[in-house]
Amino acid sequence: MNKAKHKGILLVISGFSGAGKGTLVKKLISEYDNYALSISMTTRNPRVGEEHGREYFFATKEEFEHKITEDGFIEHACYCGNYYGTPKDYVESMLAAGKDVILEIEIQGAMKVKEQYPQALLLFVVPPSAEELKRRLIGRGTETEEVIDARLKRAYEESQGIEQYDYLVINDDLDRCVNELHNIVLSEHNRPDRNEAFIEKIREELKSFSFEK
Ligand code: ADP
Ligand code: 5GP
Repeated sequence: MNKAKHKGILLVISGFSGAGKGTLVKKLISEYDNYALSISMTTRNPRVGEEHGREYFFATKEEFEHKITEDGFIEHACYCGNYYGTPKDYVESMLAAGKDVILEIEIQGAMKVKEQYPQALLLFVVPPSAEELKRRLIGRGTETEEVIDARLKRAYEESQGIEQYDYLVINDDLDRCVNELHNIVLSEHNRPDRNEAFIEKIREELKSFSFEK
């Protein structure tokens, strides 16, 4: 378990495929400079327009399994027949630099992160309705009908785990949702357990008043 107190928050964003996580995260990062996005490794094929090192590090099964043996991932999981994993080095260095590091990962991975980083903040993004989810998945136009069906089935399974997250974020209007997400992170920074050094310092300073005549 990693108990190190970082200035930056490890932010885990999960949600059904098609809920709008990627869109939200892209906008969040373009509007605020406190975030760093972790780029995962995957064995799935690149979608049209995706670039190696930008959306994902695309790898073969053998390359992925080799990185597992090197202990190179914070977590990895199998999702709809492909491997996905979070490389360790980038996350550790960005947290140490005080960035709020975003992991856009599915639920099994999120639970593994929570075990290793108990201070991680877990957010679950949902669309306003199941019908809207289907519309968005079809509208994105990046998956075959078969893959869309598999992802919708998977969404039902994933919905069973929502209560394990810290916040539910409803992605209805994109701008409103980005704003809400950012405000959650700002509020989290003010929790006492993320500010132990400051609390100790002001307590020490106040002590001197107690001994004044
Ligand atoms: P995910 O990363 O969760 O799989 P995407 O970010 O790829 O989802 O979004 C899925 C589709 O829904 C995309 O076509 C995107 O443009 C659209 N979308 C995302 N957010 C919204 C929103 N708030 N309102 C309407 N459409 C949205
Ligand atoms: P997609 O194929 O749509 O890009 O991603 C499929 C699912 O895998 C999404 O729920 C996404 O959040 C998740 N995912 C992406 N990267 C990782 C990762 O590194 N680890 C885990 N556990 N899930 C990931």
